[in-house]
Amino acid sequence: MSGLDPVAFAADLIRCKSVTPADDGALGTLQQTLEAAGFVCHRLPFSEPGTPDIDNLYARLGTGHPHFCFAGHSDVVPVGNVEGWTVDPFKAEIHDGYLYGRGAVDMKGAIAAFVSAALEFAPRLRGSISLLITGDEEGPSINGTKKMLDWLVANGEIPDICVVGEPTNETQLGDMAKIGRRGSLNVELTSTGVQGHVAYPHLADNPIHPLIALLADLTAKPLDEGNAHFQPSSLQVTTLDVGNPTENLIPAQARARFNIRFNDMHSSASLLAWVASRIEALGLSGKIKTASRVSGESFITHPGTLSALVSDAVEKRLGRKPALSTTGGTSDARFISRFCPTIEFGLVGRTMHKTDERASVKDIADLAAIYGHMLDAYFAGRA
Ligand SMILES: [Zn+2]
Repeated sequence: MSGLDPVAFAADLIRCKSVTPADDGALGTLQQTLEAAGFVCHRLPFSEPGTPDIDNLYARLGTGHPHFCFAGHSDVVPVGNVEGWTVDPFKAEIHDGYLYGRGAVDMKGAIAAFVSAALEFAPRLRGSISLLITGDEEGPSINGTKKMLDWLVANGEIPDICVVGEPTNETQLGDMAKIGRRGSLNVELTSTGVQGHVAYPHLADNPIHPLIALLADLTAKPLDEGNAHFQPSSLQVTTLDVGNPTENLIPAQARARFNIRFNDMHSSASLLAWVASRIEALGLSGKIKTASRVSGESFITHPGTLSALVSDAVEKRLGRKPALSTTGGTSDARFISRFCPTIEFGLVGRTMHKTDERASVKDIADLAAIYGHMLDAYFAGRA
């Protein structure tokens, strides 16, 4: 045994108030423990104008292949309504078998579980184990994993596979792993007309009407029916703004925004082309302008060796196999999956981002054992 108690180590991490972009010693705590076990650590601070400076940590034990990477984030979301907590969110107290605190499940508990498993496995390692830990997952995700991956490429450090420790299980440990995620595209529409009196519409040009027509067109039919691994894509109008307090005035401009969560039957480019084609088909090209922001493309690691590695490890510990899902929001796996097969498996997400976030002490120990089984199986016969 490595002797590193994953629950105690998770508690150490929770006591660092690492609300994005703060670190408050979380990465240092991690680095100290990993360096003591022989990991070579690189702090990778990144900055960009208009975004907070972020520190990140890449740690690797061994230099050869195969190379197994665990990715995660040390930052946490704010506590939110403090009165809603029954405990101090950064004290990491244990009550009734649960470790309480911000980040307990998302995702300091999983980081601690992996570190414990890696240290226990280290003496038998033939190849490399690395940790890719960002301090910017819950924030804008600009100075985090994305830039770390550029650094990994530049330094020849790209792993062979990656397991991301996000809380993927819905109700109990072992019920779900994520083999992909839907993409997310945000579009803003600005419709411009000519302001005027409602009684003299021929002297004005109402910008709201074409906007309604376009939104009706875009939402008239489902984007697709989904497929074996993905739910149907979904376009949701999130706001329609005119801001006109006057009853007898046709405004000059109207805006709307929508978000599309899309599966692997689309890309942000194909969807933007589709929106443009609908604007043109409705004869609105001169009237409606679009602006867009891509939060992430969809990705999938098709069921195979990597999903079997996770499923078998879960089954060995818990006696059941997880569902392989692509539901939920985006995660940093969207960046990593461009470089190597990537899967996500962590704790139970029920209390993530909520008040009284907590992880079952038993789950943290089980997760450490599951990660340990993954390492055993992955390196067995490969080195
Ligand atoms: Zn997370």
